[in-house]
Amino acid sequence: MADLPVETIQFDEPTLMLEPLEAAVVTAIRRQGPLSRTDLSERLDYSRASVTGIVGRMIDARVLTEAGEGKSAGGRRPFLLDLNPHLGYVVGVDVGATSLDVALADFRGQILERATGPGDVRGRPDDFFDRVADVVDELLARRGLPATAVIGIGVGVPGPVEFVPGVLIAPPLMPLWEGYPIKQHLRRRFPAARVAVDNDVNIMARGEHQAGAGRGLDNFLFVKIGTGIGCGIISHGEIYRGADGAAGDVGHICVDYNGPVCHCGNQGCLEIMAAGPAIAAEGRARAEAGESQFLAARLAERGTLTAVDVGDAAAAGDRAALEIIRRSGRMIGGVLATLVNFYNPQAVFIGGGVAGIGHGLLSAIRQATLRRATALSTRHLRIEYAPLGEDAGVIGGIWLALENVFVVK
Ligand SMILES: [Zn+2]
Repeated sequence: MADLPVETIQFDEPTLMLEPLEAAVVTAIRRQGPLSRTDLSERLDYSRASVTGIVGRMIDARVLTEAGEGKSAGGRRPFLLDLNPHLGYVVGVDVGATSLDVALADFRGQILERATGPGDVRGRPDDFFDRVADVVDELLARRGLPATAVIGIGVGVPGPVEFVPGVLIAPPLMPLWEGYPIKQHLRRRFPAARVAVDNDVNIMARGEHQAGAGRGLDNFLFVKIGTGIGCGIISHGEIYRGADGAAGDVGHICVDYNGPVCHCGNQGCLEIMAAGPAIAAEGRARAEAGESQFLAARLAERGTLTAVDVGDAAAAGDRAALEIIRRSGRMIGGVLATLVNFYNPQAVFIGGGVAGIGHGLLSAIRQATLRRATALSTRHLRIEYAPLGEDAGVIGGIWLALENVFVVK
């Protein structure tokens, strides 16, 4: 098998099948934590007898385990049921443009081991995923687990993904990865794993939904501002990907028909106007024009400027830097107002590397959004920084893997 090119390997995914009611039990426990048979019967609106039968079979199949006693509602204290953490292990992989974050988790989604380091997506994908697999092997070795213990892998990549085959379509950052069979490559090293691949912004939204600001919210947007701008959409508690996986690519919404040419070929996209590189370039222009002493000094010292430098200047009260950040926030907020009018989310969470450059950006985004969106759509709207930061991706990868482990009959 090792000599075959990866494309020719038969793609026969391992499957753990669940009846619809069994799947509902798993989902309920993932959302609420350990539940008793009575809780499950009430929540799922099935008779206590059917739930008891199903739960018995799921305990025999090692999917569920008894997890101690819950609170009594008068009589005997009920036994709580939880997912068996040792049914199998899952891996979350967050591929950034310049970083790689990998975590091994148990079946309850608890992170056991983690590795973070630099990464480079400009090279060949088979070399890259060999390295990913080596890192996973290392994490497994720390726990004395074999490769076959991995039953699910969730991968987030910085580019547009066609979700079902799990391949990148015209990824601007990594042209060599176009159409590359990531799932098959990883399955060669982890034959018991089902692999899911998604866009990095979608898995960050999933991470915030599971463990961050989006907990308990069914409809929200997660906007990542970094080198580019993208949006993950949680709709009715699940990632909304659209017909082909392209939903949420808001960075290429036009904000200026006469603006600079974006790498997508169009003019004046939000991303080319307002993301990290635009903030940095404007900072440089202002420094060179003698309009910012702070930025001129930083430029002289380091030879280059980033969005973070502009954020530092703004924090020090530099007027030009404040203007740059407000302008960027206004453009992002203008687009967000349109999205809020269209989608009416409960919340918009702002994340990504540029989100951390200071409060000026968030307040400009908030102002522009609230000013332009309709009163009804903003009545309960929260616009906040996403709390998980860089961890959102790898946590979302784990939950993507966990969701994909079972196939519902
Ligand atoms: Zn564009």
